[in-house]
Amino acid sequence: MRKKLIAGNWKMNNTPSQGVALINEIKDTANNAVCDVVVCTPYICLPAACEAAKGSKIAVSAENMHFEDKGAFTGEISADMLKEVGVTYTVIGHSERRQYFAETDTTVNLKTVKALANDILPIVCVGESLDQRENGITFDFISMQVKLALKGVSAEDAKKVVIAYEPIWAIGTGMTATDEQANEVCLFIRETVKSLYGADVSDTMRILYGGSMNAKNAAGLLAQSDIDGGLIGGASLKAADFCTIINAANA
Ligand code: PEP
Repeated sequence: MRKKLIAGNWKMNNTPSQGVALINEIKDTANNAVCDVVVCTPYICLPAACEAAKGSKIAVSAENMHFEDKGAFTGEISADMLKEVGVTYTVIGHSERRQYFAETDTTVNLKTVKALANDILPIVCVGESLDQRENGITFDFISMQVKLALKGVSAEDAKKVVIAYEPIWAIGTGMTATDEQANEVCLFIRETVKSLYGADVSDTMRILYGGSMNAKNAAGLLAQSDIDGGLIGGASLKAADFCTIINAANA
């Protein structure tokens, strides 16, 4: 039985003090939740967020991480730096990073391997564009993204990876995938993982849906057989909506 995971991706929103206020607003709901609750915050918010979340069931995630240990990489953040402030997850390969910051399947793989080597749990994002969906190549594309992200990852480590299926056409657009569309691809991802590692890993790995998940549609999506939680952008910025989604995952 996989434990559901609800992760809020703040993107480039919230100052450190605003982040702390939001964490304090969701703390009670998170502490009473059956599911895991994660907040993915901008780098600058991480120390204050980790401090605010201390002693609660909220885990803190970065939104990105560099794959090198240290060196001349101006503006980047390493796994060591994240660990020292108490970060336990990192998002890797969000479509916005792939689209605007030249993230590739190769860097996604390097970051996934580096995160796992440092005991940081990677939330690896995959998802097709509208054009790819309309041209019938969704499954080929997702299969390629998943296989390349997991290259060189052992079966034991693969169990710790979280994959977020985030169709690009649904992110921040209000166009949510239907329950069936989302579950179909999450199931396909599980089958792809099974072909790589076997059923033990694919039955353990958590696969999330992300893309305009909100307080209204969360229950339907989270009730699907192969959706183990959500990666939530816009709706994670409003405490009441995020708490409704957490509660929907507990049902
Ligand atoms: C996201 O940021 O990963 C996301 C799914 O955003 P939204 O929920 O706003 O579509």
